[in-house]
Amino acid sequence: MKTIGLIGGLSWESSAVYYRIINELVRDKVGSTHSAKSIMYSVDFAEFEKLQHQGDWDKLTELMIDAGMRLKKGGADFMVICTNTMHKMADAVESQVGIPLLHIADTAADEVKIRGLRKVALLGTKFTMEQDFYKGRLAQKHGIEVVIPDQDEREVIHSIIYHELVLGKILESSREAFVKIMEHMHNIGAEGIVLGCTEIPLLISQKDSIVPIFDTTQIHATAAVEFSLR
Ligand code: GLU
Repeated sequence: MKTIGLIGGLSWESSAVYYRIINELVRDKVGSTHSAKSIMYSVDFAEFEKLQHQGDWDKLTELMIDAGMRLKKGGADFMVICTNTMHKMADAVESQVGIPLLHIADTAADEVKIRGLRKVALLGTKFTMEQDFYKGRLAQKHGIEVVIPDQDEREVIHSIIYHELVLGKILESSREAFVKIMEHMHNIGAEGIVLGCTEIPLLISQKDSIVPIFDTTQIHATAAVEFSLR
């Protein structure tokens, strides 16, 4: 079994879910009292969130490389960044740290393709929805067409993530807002919805959508276990 290196704390609400899924899956797949070999370096989210909103992606890249180096020194065989947004600098982290990185968008794309879908909506932070690092990878590397919500809808999603979900606040009014946005996405042709923020699955599940949803936390954590057992 390979040792999984997790960059967590982005936010810890979703890192805790990764930790649970990874260990439950190893127990189910390997059996008896087995659990995952893993190391998590969990950062202070406030520091990262501030730099994101200041647009200081260079500093954030340095911090992510530092986190990856700590995992490598601790014996991690590969890295899992437990957030979609911070895959913006995934290539730099992988090349600087020098151990493999399991990219969350690739794991999500594989599931979308297994379901035979060609066009999906991407919901996440404004950084993830608006910049090209995620949509571009889905489109160019995987041939998946991506639609995103309108600007006012993106503001709503971003605000729910940063003011509620990362703080563990789960509100029915926010769930309803997501359901409306997902219906809009379906109406403009999305055959599936990528929950491209690791906290969204704390609020939204398949019962809230008429089209298939892709829970990136579940998908990424599952792929990490498969990679570690390969
Ligand atoms: N966990 C979220 C994501 O998957 C957002 C938090 C962050 O900014 O990293 O994008």
